[in-house]
Amino acid sequence: MQTATILVTGGAGYIGSHTCIELLHAGFKVLVVDNLDNSSEESLKRVEQITGKTVDFIKGDVRDAQLMASIFADNKIAATIHFAGLKAVGESCAMPLEYYDNNVNSTLVLCQAMEKANSKNLVFSSSATVYGDPEVLPLTEDMPLSATNPYGRSKLIIEEMLRDLPESDKLKKSDNPWSVALLRYFNPVGAHESGKIGEDPSDTPNNLMPFITQTAVGRRAELSIFGSDYDTVDGTGVRDYIHVVDLARGHVKAVQKLLSKDGIDGVQAYNLGTGNGISVLEMVKAFSAENDVAVPYKLVERRPGDVAACYADATRARVELDWVAEMSLEDMVRDSWKWQSLNPDGYTV
Ligand code: NAD
Ligand code: UDP
Repeated sequence: MQTATILVTGGAGYIGSHTCIELLHAGFKVLVVDNLDNSSEESLKRVEQITGKTVDFIKGDVRDAQLMASIFADNKIAATIHFAGLKAVGESCAMPLEYYDNNVNSTLVLCQAMEKANSKNLVFSSSATVYGDPEVLPLTEDMPLSATNPYGRSKLIIEEMLRDLPESDKLKKSDNPWSVALLRYFNPVGAHESGKIGEDPSDTPNNLMPFITQTAVGRRAELSIFGSDYDTVDGTGVRDYIHVVDLARGHVKAVQKLLSKDGIDGVQAYNLGTGNGISVLEMVKAFSAENDVAVPYKLVERRPGDVAACYADATRARVELDWVAEMSLEDMVRDSWKWQSLNPDGYTV
């Protein structure tokens, strides 16, 4: 049997590059399309070094309809994982139209190409942000959805757009219906254990872990901890941090499910998290203790728009995808530091 090819949009980025490794380990062929707006081709070269396998790469934009049509015409794509998009909450408030264009429009163009090619297995990068400000924890997939900023709204709009597709299959009596996994990530951190690939934000990091690692390596003077008066274990915000390699493996499980005899019936959402809530202070302390490195910090005002706590119930992913997060908090902080200390300036080549 010929090896199945998986199209990975945004595959040169942080989560995409780790997923390419896990797909290659699982025996898939990988074809990446990425415009390199927030990444470097070097990440894919390192994926090849780590796996000893080849990654086919096309530099281009997913919003380019002609390009996407030609990719599906030239390749037999068994499933597509759609990572490509913009992801900074603050930036999305300043430039909402760019976010709707890049995130929503890229998904629209991609799905049109997929439908035309009758290649209708899709894994979509959604986010825990679609739960808005949660009233009840842990979060299950059927809890109410809402958005508090244009980034989150772009993910919600895409989820809703994708939920319309199975209905069209029924009306058209399609014999190859859409099979879509919406993966709602909690807070990805960590890096491949080799230290060769990791998160490499091009601007000042918005997220906690790259800020911690850049402070520890001396690129930033100190970490500002946003809020110490939340109703949490120590007053700082609580999140469900998940090792990026666990997350990447969740994508392989989702692809395997899509390609299995049962597939996914229409569109199904899955939380990918550990189920454990960790506070900012707990994360800083775990990082310093595991790596024996100081992270100077100060407690400052809350960041507007932040929620006190957010963590997943990932039971559905365990039951339906046979996936659980296996890596520990120590793995997360050790691997984040290994990547940053071996590559203090990220992918500089
Ligand atoms: P990333 O920026 O590292 O990767 C995204 C990749 O997509 C980059 O390589 C970028 O160059 C590429 N890209 C962007 N727009 C493109 C376009 N129009 N055409 C082609 N390539 C394009 O981000 P990431 O952290 O790996 O996130 C991947 C996906 O996961 C995103 O959709 C993001 O919204 C989602 N997500 C991320 C997080 C997180 O905390 N990292 C959490 C939840 C969801
Ligand atoms: N955070 C912080 N300082 C930073 C970045 C983040 O204290 O420089 C806190 C933030 O307030 C939240 C947690 O770390 O409680 C995770 O924030 P991140 O932006 O990484 O993820 P998100 O808020 O999207 O869950």
